[in-house]
Amino acid sequence: MTASVEIKGWCPGARRPMPSGDGLIVRVRPHGGALLVSALRELAEAARHYGNGQIDLTRRANLQIRGVSSETLVPLWELMASLGLLDDSAELEAIRNIVVNPLAGLDPAEWVDMRPVAAELETLLASDQALHALPPKFGFALDGGGRLPLTGLAADIRLVACSGPEAGRVAVGIVGSVESVWLGTTADADAASTSVRLARLVLQHSPTRRSADLPPHARAAVGAELGLDLSNVIATPSAAKSQRRCGIIALTDQTCAVGLGVPFGRIDSGTLARLAAMLAAHDVAEVRLSPWRALYVAAGAVTAEQLVADAARLGLVVDDADPLMRIDACSGAGCCPSTGLATRQHARVLADAMARTGFNGTLHISGCAKSCARSAAANVVLVGEGEGYHIVRNGTVKSESCGMLDPTETDVDGLFETKEKAHV
Ligand code: SF4
Repeated sequence: MTASVEIKGWCPGARRPMPSGDGLIVRVRPHGGALLVSALRELAEAARHYGNGQIDLTRRANLQIRGVSSETLVPLWELMASLGLLDDSAELEAIRNIVVNPLAGLDPAEWVDMRPVAAELETLLASDQALHALPPKFGFALDGGGRLPLTGLAADIRLVACSGPEAGRVAVGIVGSVESVWLGTTADADAASTSVRLARLVLQHSPTRRSADLPPHARAAVGAELGLDLSNVIATPSAAKSQRRCGIIALTDQTCAVGLGVPFGRIDSGTLARLAAMLAAHDVAEVRLSPWRALYVAAGAVTAEQLVADAARLGLVVDDADPLMRIDACSGAGCCPSTGLATRQHARVLADAMARTGFNGTLHISGCAKSCARSAAANVVLVGEGEGYHIVRNGTVKSESCGMLDPTETDVDGLFETKEKAHV
């Protein structure tokens, strides 16, 4: 039995996988950003059986299994269905684009646990046929604050918990030209239904069906139509924000979160299976996904130390100072027909140069000008063309090039010996 595969542009799903240079990409969307460790282990095995053993962590806090064929797609669907991870239709999965804080419900510093809001939002999105017309990239960011806020995550609709005397208030925002435009606040109990009404209004008023293109006059009308409280519409950044994302993040005197960074968001099935086995051996039952390509687990302080040591042995990043966490590199040669450049191999060489030179900025390596790995600016951008890279400083792939880099060059330290050290 084979599945008929609908080829559809750039946003893969499970029901609607995306063809790539190494086969079909099948996206797995966990509910509420959480997966049981037992499910993680089964998905790792499935990636080996039904794909080419390569798994991506995406910037929407999902997993992608790569190298699936039309013959192995159906058994992969069956496995996903048994884990409760397969939607009934491509339309349903496409609109389930909801990101919550990776420590939601675990972090005592958060203002609102957004998981119930996410669960209600999923149900409402599924039951409202009209919303199935939302574009596949239409996304919701549900930020309850705390140590790992979702600051900077692009989303059509943002719900951000407000600080202040009135607990349980949530600011409702949409994409603005520079930053979010806040429409007002609502009670957390009403946040999911408000989001759905807002999504319907965006469909009605935006020519592209994206909130960024809602005409200015429509924004005010939409805010008024939603009946939001306009008295305090500025969502303040979380004061509890952690200085670190990888390694041990203390939650209470006795409990920690452990952040495990995955270089370039790519992990092989063997490593993922070993990680799942290691977590199970430490009685960790659940893993959380994040939009910055790190996995999170909760553990006691002693266990957390052991997890960090074990994860480092698996090649995961447990220290934010590791340059690998400041590099975005697309999948490159072998995975994508648009380039012959081994972007991630080059990235590892350049990571050593970043460490040697003390460069603490960001690096983006793109096999071509499509810029799949990163849309934001970076301190250094390499844009592949032919057998080399155009060099851009403090910009994006679209910015003006200031030179070329030959990837066979062995002395690359000069690329990072600039005065700009700040993160973009
Ligand atoms: S940026 Fe270009 S080379 Fe890299 S994955 Fe995307 S299309 Fe392929």
